[in-house]
Amino acid sequence: MPEIPLTKVCVDCGEEKLLSEYYLDKNGRPPCPRCKDCYKNWHNQYRRNKTREKKSLLSLVIPTSKTCSKCAQEKSLTDIYKDKEGKFGVSSICKSVRVSTILTEEKTL
Ligand SMILES: [Zn+2]
Ligand SMILES: [Zn+2]
Repeated sequence: MPEIPLTKVCVDCGEEKLLSEYYLDKNGRPPCPRCKDCYKNWHNQYRRNKTREKKSLLSLVIPTSKTCSKCAQEKSLTDIYKDKEGKFGVSSICKSVRVSTILTEEKTL
């Protein structure tokens, strides 16, 4: 019979803790790689991340600004031309870039 270790090193805090400091499963083995303290922290963090994800998703639905794919500057949606085919109904490039593109296109024509 191999000797069952009484302690385990937590993957999060790196501390060697007694098995009683870990959540055990039905078989009495420690399934949790992190100690109870770290597990609680991790769980809170996870829940916080979830709410943050939801918030960022909401802001994606109604964006107020957009990064121009040409000049890479963040522009207010009012500075970007509307485009039915574009994401969120706006073009991916800002008005100032668009104007200069049209001007150069006219010149080359
Ligand atoms: Zn820990
Ligand atoms: Zn631009």
